[in-house]
Order: sequence, then structure tokens, then C-alpha cells
Amino acid sequence: MLAIAGLVVVAALAYAFRPGASDQASSQVETSQSAIDRAAEKAAKNAVAGAKAADAVEQRLWSNGQFASKVPPSDGVNAGTSAGSAVALTFDDGPGKETWDVLALLKRYRMRATFFVTGQSVVKNPGALAAIAADGHVVGNHTWTHASLPSLKAPQLKAEIADTQALIEQETGHKLTTMRPPFGDFTAKTNAYVRARGMLPVLWTVDSNDWAHRDAQTIATNVLNSPQLKPGAIILLHDGPINRQVTVDALLMILDGLVARGLRSVTIPELLRVGPPSIARPGDYKLSDYATD
Ligand SMILES: [Zn+2]
Repeated sequence: MLAIAGLVVVAALAYAFRPGASDQASSQVETSQSAIDRAAEKAAKNAVAGAKAADAVEQRLWSNGQFASKVPPSDGVNAGTSAGSAVALTFDDGPGKETWDVLALLKRYRMRATFFVTGQSVVKNPGALAAIAADGHVVGNHTWTHASLPSLKAPQLKAEIADTQALIEQETGHKLTTMRPPFGDFTAKTNAYVRARGMLPVLWTVDSNDWAHRDAQTIATNVLNSPQLKPGAIILLHDGPINRQVTVDALLMILDGLVARGLRSVTIPELLRVGPPSIARPGDYKLSDYATD
């Protein structure tokens, strides 16, 4: 047995060291190395093409599209088209501690939403905007300090809107296309300022009143029993800056209710792409007590 093994070794050595064997072996190595290189190059090219395609899809997801550009410059929108089965869940005043639970629920139900964040909440919650964007949701501008816009002078408008816009664009890598005026306070002048900066003012048609209620059932009922809960609806909820656990609890019921009604939540830009939106004109929303003019 040992002798046979010895013979095999000798034969193998003789084969390896036969004349010309080393050239042949190295050329085989070269061939397989260049094949690996070619495969790696191809994979790299495919990866670049794949990344470009993913980027194009993502840019499209954040772009309001043709119908939004037809909204007059002094106006905004309060709902999408009634065609189709899409509604838009929106979360204001965050990000906050509960944003992570909101993201987990939206993922479980495969729904998308828009988060209208304030600059002050963004700086207190590092990583939140990246997580929101990574899950396919859209981020919108809700000013830096949650200011009522109509009373503001130009430098304050810049600090509230333009500075928040710059922060969000830096954190997400996307151009902002949506803005929600705090308290629903807007005028033709503030809308024109927002529109000139490439954003569309977005109001709502279904108010959950989650900030005023301590129980999840009431908040869910406010949404699910609203006569405005139909295709195109824009639904107002909050995920910051204070504890919003009650909103998270309500969201579970709201998502179940949407599924039961055959509705699905999409981002505001996606909603606007379904068809012409319903327009919100100055005066449509009652100015809050916080506004001074
Ligand atoms: Zn708000």
C-alpha cells in the first residue's frame, strides 16, 4: 500500500516537472486570473448600472411630477386625485423617539409615508432621516422651529425654511419637493417663497387630532371614520417632538383599517403622480391662534 502511494507521488512529481510543464501551468494560471478579472470587471459594470438605475428610481420617488407643476405659484395642495386607491400618511414635528416604531409598522404593512420634519428635531435625532429615506419614505420641510409663517419677515423665512431645506438635503442626499406650513398657516406670499425654492406646500384632508387625545382608539376613529378618508386623502399624524406612543398605538389600527378598505399609503410625490391634486388656496385653512396676521 505504501509502495503504491510512493509510486503515485513519484508519478505526480514526474508529471509536474516534465519539460514545458511550468510554462503551461503558469499560462493556465494567467488564463484563470484574466477570467477572474473579466468577471470582476463585468460585475463592477453591472453594479454601476444597477446603482444608476436605483438612483433614477429614487430620484423619481422624490419628484412631484407633472401635475404638481400645474398648481398655481400662490397655492399648495390638500389632497391627491380621487382616482386609484392611494392615500398618504404624513407624520409631522419629528423625527422623535417613536419614529423608529412608526418605521417598523410601515415596513410590516408595506406602506410608505411622508415625514414633515423640523430642523430642531432633526439635529436632536441623528441617523433618523437616513433611516426614513432608506426605507423608501420621503422627507418634507416643516420649518426649523415650527414657526407660523405669515408673520415672518424675509430673514426669518430664510432661517425657518431655507436652512431646514439645506439640512434635510444634506442628510438625505435628495432635493426637497414638499413643505408643510406649521399649524396650516400660509398666505399667497409664504407659498410663493416656498414654491420659489422648489417645494410644494402640502396640507391635509384627514386630521387625526392625535396631539389632542390621550387614547389611541379616538385617534384611529378620527381617521377611519372621517368622511374624507377616500382615495387621494392626506392624513395628518405626529411622530415628535414629544412622546407619541399613543400615535404609534393608533397607527396599528389605522393601518389595519386602510387594508380593510383597500387603501394603501404612498408618499406625497407618489400620490401626486397618480393624477391632478386638489388645490389648497390661501384662506382655505383657518389661521391658527399663533399667527399674528
Ligand atoms: Zn407641526
